[in-house]
Amino acid sequence: MKSPAIVTAAGRNVRRRPSPLAVDAAGYVRAAVQVASPNCDDRPHHTPITLAVVHGISLPPGEFGGDAIERLFTNRLDAAAHPYFASIATLRVSSHFLVRRDGALVQFVPCARRAWHAGPSAWRGVPRCNDYSIGIELEGTDTDAYEDPQYATLARLCRVLMRRYPIADVAGHSDIAPSRKTDPGPAFDWRRLERALRRPLRSGK
Ligand SMILES: [Zn+2]
Repeated sequence: MKSPAIVTAAGRNVRRRPSPLAVDAAGYVRAAVQVASPNCDDRPHHTPITLAVVHGISLPPGEFGGDAIERLFTNRLDAAAHPYFASIATLRVSSHFLVRRDGALVQFVPCARRAWHAGPSAWRGVPRCNDYSIGIELEGTDTDAYEDPQYATLARLCRVLMRRYPIADVAGHSDIAPSRKTDPGPAFDWRRLERALRRPLRSGK
């Protein structure tokens, strides 16, 4: 995973690799666009971060590229702007990260804090996944193929998070709340992420 770039005698990289993301002690990824969400609080004391949760979201559903996700996670969604928004505008939710269709990374909550992305949930019999997980939203739907740059950013993000935290699994929202949630959906290629990270990801499933 940490194999160094191959350098020729002339000193040039043969294979270009994107520079690794870095996550600081508070859990900020400085390369991400920072949009602070108030929808977070302290994790329970002495709770290690052992899980990353992959979500899919688009607002309105099936439409990409607007600012509604940022608005939802910062309590600024206009309920009148779209019929669907009326049903969700009062929700107080967030995730740590959002990966846009073009692979751009947005951060709403530092990893050291608890974001409100999972809802009632359990993984390997441990309830309240928000306590011990990092939430990563991919802009998309259950049925539209996620974009190549999204897989690339997600893999880079998972790599750096796994170095910083004792993350044992990466699971889907549908894995931790199977009776309520279907995201990231059948469109998400788990094998592709496993290949990129060179490890199995959903050992508890
Ligand atoms: Zn979700």
